[in-house]
Parts: sequence; structure tokens; C-alpha cells
Amino acid sequence: MPEQIEKIRQQALSDIGRCRSEKELENVRHKYLGRQDGQLTAILRQVSRLPEDQRQATGSLANRTRAEVEQAWQKKKAGIVNAGATQAGYFDITVPGTKPATGHLHPLTRIRLEVQEIFKSMGFMVQEGNELTDLYYNFLSLNFPENHPAMDSYDTFFIKEDPKQKIELEKRQVMRAHTSNMQVRIMEKNKPPLKVIVPGRCFRNEATDASHDHTFHQIEGFVVDENISIANLVYTQKVLLSKIFGQEVKVRLRPGYFPFVEPGFELDCSCIICGGQGCSVCKRTGWVELIPCGMIHPKVLESAGYPQGKYTGFAFGMGWSRLAMMKYEIDDIRLFMGGDLRFLQQF
Ligand SMILES: [Zn+2]
Repeated sequence: MPEQIEKIRQQALSDIGRCRSEKELENVRHKYLGRQDGQLTAILRQVSRLPEDQRQATGSLANRTRAEVEQAWQKKKAGIVNAGATQAGYFDITVPGTKPATGHLHPLTRIRLEVQEIFKSMGFMVQEGNELTDLYYNFLSLNFPENHPAMDSYDTFFIKEDPKQKIELEKRQVMRAHTSNMQVRIMEKNKPPLKVIVPGRCFRNEATDASHDHTFHQIEGFVVDENISIANLVYTQKVLLSKIFGQEVKVRLRPGYFPFVEPGFELDCSCIICGGQGCSVCKRTGWVELIPCGMIHPKVLESAGYPQGKYTGFAFGMGWSRLAMMKYEIDDIRLFMGGDLRFLQQF
């Protein structure tokens, strides 16, 4: 009997393939699957009369074959109906359509827009910046002395140069290592009072781990005016952090060294991911280094061409990826740029 079933199967599939109209298809259905005398129906009827040892195997083969023929028949029918519909210019508007997948803003973009709004509400202007810059704006104008080891800690990507061309140190092209590369550029073109933020991508030749990536996002900000003090700096950061996290967060100031500020601080915020208990993001300390900041060094104001002693100001550079990690409780910075849709679709 299995040979017989196989023969019917082949014959049925080839008959279905040859059909050109719905009428022909109906005839084929009748011939093989008809309730009264369809060939496969007849086979299934005979199965119950087989000896017990053959009944199960043959029955399941016959059922599988019937399902296969039925499926081929349905597919062919859909093809014939569609072809007819197209020929007649008929279009069924009641058929549910395919919904296109809609995207949404990347979590980093969302947090950037949020931060921008908070700063704008405090009177800051938002500036874009150059990602490719030179050593002067990236370091030298910011009071990094030439060949100073502080520059090494920034692991900067230098652009390959023609070795035959003699390029002055300050003109050497680099991918910016921080968004502070815009500080002096903007000061040169504008007179105080100035309140500016520069959100953007930065690049460092770093070994990547859960809290470091070679491409990261930073918001540089600075305020220059007469009589600006550390109190203004602390207040601005407190407003920002409590608005972003929707709660009062603990902050602490530690002394920090950055050539472009004096005095310089590290503003730490209590880790929101672990509630200060210690996790991989806060390196088990309960605190996250969030905002290096300080009072703008007089040498930087001098680079900008401002009259000596007239203005003071504060500056800060915040890792905005870190801010997003805190806010959305993400414990690995590499997820942002990893392109994994399972991650991105959660926002
Ligand atoms: Zn933590």
C-alpha cells in the first residue's frame, strides 16, 4: 500500500501543477480528496482493514500525503485567484495590510534632547561641533602644555599624515578626544556673557569594557561672565541631575586635575543602578564619576582673547552615555553602539 500512496501523491501533485483554472482545480480536488470517491479518501478508508502491524505506519503516511496534497491545492488556488484578480484590476481593500515596522529615537538621542531642553530652560545655547579637529583646539588652547603627559591620557586618534609634509604640532589633525575642543572656538567668536553646551561624539583609542568605548558621547558646557563662581557650577549640575533622574541625587565634589580648569573637580553622583551598593557600572564603589568640571583656567580665557581678569567661568564635560546608563539602568556602555535590535527595541 505505501507504493500505491506514493503513486497517488505524485499523480495528484502533478495534476495540481497543470491546473489553469478554478474549475480544473475543483475537478482535481474531487478526484483525490472527494468525500465519496476521492482516491486518497478511499485509501484512508482501507487503512482500518489492514493487519494491526501495518495499520499505524500506513495510516500516518496516508494522512501526511493528504495534508501535503491539500496544501499544494490551496497554494495553487491562491495563485490562480490572485492572478485573476490582477488581470481584472481587482483589489480587495478589506485584506489586512502589512504594517511597516516603525522606528524610534535611539536612547542616546532621547537623553541628549532631554538634557538640551533642561539647559535651554536655564538660558544655555546649544552648539554643534567639529569631530575632526586640530591639536590646538583639542589640547593646546586649553592649557595643555606641548608634549605634556596629560595629553597621553586622552588616547587620541591622530589622522595619518604624509611623512614628507612638515606639519606644525598645533595643526596636526585628530579626532576630538572631548567636546571641549569647541570651547575656545566658540569663545573666539562670541563675547560674554556666554552659556553654551556642545553635545557630540568623541573618540579615544581605549580598550573597551562595560564602562568604556572607543566612541562615546559627551556634553561640554561652559559659562563665562563677570563674577561666576563655584556655587553657580554646583547649582547648575544639581538642577540638571535632579531633572534628568526625576529625584534628588546625592553628589560629591572631589578635587580633580584637568589642565583647562583651576580649581578642577570630579563631580560624582550616587549610583542609581545599584542604589549605592556597588555594581559593575560604579566599579563597586556606589559612586559614578559623572561630571569632570571646574573653574575655567585663566590661560583658556586668554586663548580666547578675553581681557585679563575681567571674566570668570566654569566648564564641565559630562559623559552623556553614562547619564543614559544611569537613567535607563543599563550596565554595559557597548550596548548603545552594538546595533542589537533586541536592546534598542526596549526603548
Ligand atoms: Zn552601582
